[in-house]
Amino acid sequence: MTEIKLYNTKTRRKELFEPIDADNVRMYVCGPTVYDRAHIGNARPVIVFDTLYRLLRHVYGAHHVTYVRNFTDVDDKINARAAESGRSIGEITGETTQWYLDDMAEVGALEPTHMPRATGYIGEMIAMIEALIAKDHAYAAEGHALFRVRSYENYGALSGRDVDDMIAGARVEVAPYKEDPMDFVLWKPSSEDQPGWDSPWGRGRPGWHIECSAMAKALLGDVFDIHGGGLDLQFPHHEDEIAQSCCANGTEEMARFWMHNEMLQVEGKKMSKSLGNFFTVRDLLEQGVPGEVIRFVILSTHYRKPMDWTEKKREEAEKTLRKWYGQSEQGLGQGEPYVAAVQALADDLNTSQALMELHQLSNAGDVAALRCSMQLLGLMGDDIPAWVNATDLSAYEEKMFEARQAAMQTKDFSEVDRLKAAFIEAGLEVRMSKEGVELVPSAGFDPAKLEGLL
Ligand code: AMP
Ligand code: ZN
Repeated sequence: MTEIKLYNTKTRRKELFEPIDADNVRMYVCGPTVYDRAHIGNARPVIVFDTLYRLLRHVYGAHHVTYVRNFTDVDDKINARAAESGRSIGEITGETTQWYLDDMAEVGALEPTHMPRATGYIGEMIAMIEALIAKDHAYAAEGHALFRVRSYENYGALSGRDVDDMIAGARVEVAPYKEDPMDFVLWKPSSEDQPGWDSPWGRGRPGWHIECSAMAKALLGDVFDIHGGGLDLQFPHHEDEIAQSCCANGTEEMARFWMHNEMLQVEGKKMSKSLGNFFTVRDLLEQGVPGEVIRFVILSTHYRKPMDWTEKKREEAEKTLRKWYGQSEQGLGQGEPYVAAVQALADDLNTSQALMELHQLSNAGDVAALRCSMQLLGLMGDDIPAWVNATDLSAYEEKMFEARQAAMQTKDFSEVDRLKAAFIEAGLEVRMSKEGVELVPSAGFDPAKLEGLL
């Protein structure tokens, strides 16, 4: 059996992965808060942990892996969105959940085994909070329930923080109902116009962290194998999940392995609306970027490295996929994934190395293994998608190049100008350099308009 090694944030080491129960390998990944379209950064944990899910299924068997990814459908950002749009909370969360499923399917993510919604587990959250209060790890005050951070001596172990330093850093909210500024909310009161559920502490709603603890316990048990999410969740979210779950369940640990993907940036800058470099997965799809290309770009950087989304990477990915699809058309058939590619994935999910191995297969012309290995990475379906054969522009690029070479001699650029105008009219961007000509389709590209140009 393939040995899998994974970097464990908890121990800060790469460790051999040995499941608690090889018949049921269990993984939980924090999912989205559903009030808006997923941006390209949100797609990174989805694609990374989907690839891990595929690897685990490959190694342990498809029916021996349970993957849970939740939807947070109760949150103040959702309430705010409802208030400003005049729409109901249910409408917003329902619509956003479906958008998310559609967009993540486009980037080749398999549906997790369970996709619980927080609002479906309020009873379990209340029961967990009651258990914490009964054990003095939590207390009720002014309609709130709060976790008593100093009652859990391992608090801060995941993120390597010291409780006193955290207070000095003062990123904690001081409130009159808190015994200690470090304590965090498990339950909070709701006003009439906010969503709320009856509880022993009055009508209210859960804090964010307790959701994941309750859903993970309900679907995976008290201790499971892998817990994942973006690096921004390591503190406080995951630290708080561990504190709640270990104290309520009386366990030493919540998950054996904690895994965190690094953040995604765009063209070297943090993605933000004000910089104008913020875009959603749907924006890209609508511009004609195939979901598979998005997946390829994200997999080309190891998940523990910060990654940059660039236009250049998108183009390269598209070119590579066209080439590989073109090759695999000639050699369909059964194969096994390439051992070196599987081993790269088994080495802390080294997807960039796995893609290098695929390049080797492509160069060697081992088409069956190439195709099979691509599928392990979630890259190739059974059919060749339409975009691959949409239009081969190389002949047009060559024609333009030759026309320009000729024009340099004759100083007559009319043919170059004619072609350029026709390409632009067809929706192509024309890039000329000493090396050659590149035609890049833009959103409105219409291949029909190229007819007769050759
Ligand atoms: P949210 O809906 O903001 O809680 O985020 C959902 C998931 O996306 C979490 O696992 C986050 O850690 C992850 N995430 C958010 N922004 C980025 C980013 N720029 N790069 C990578 N992951 C991100
Ligand atoms: Zn979570």
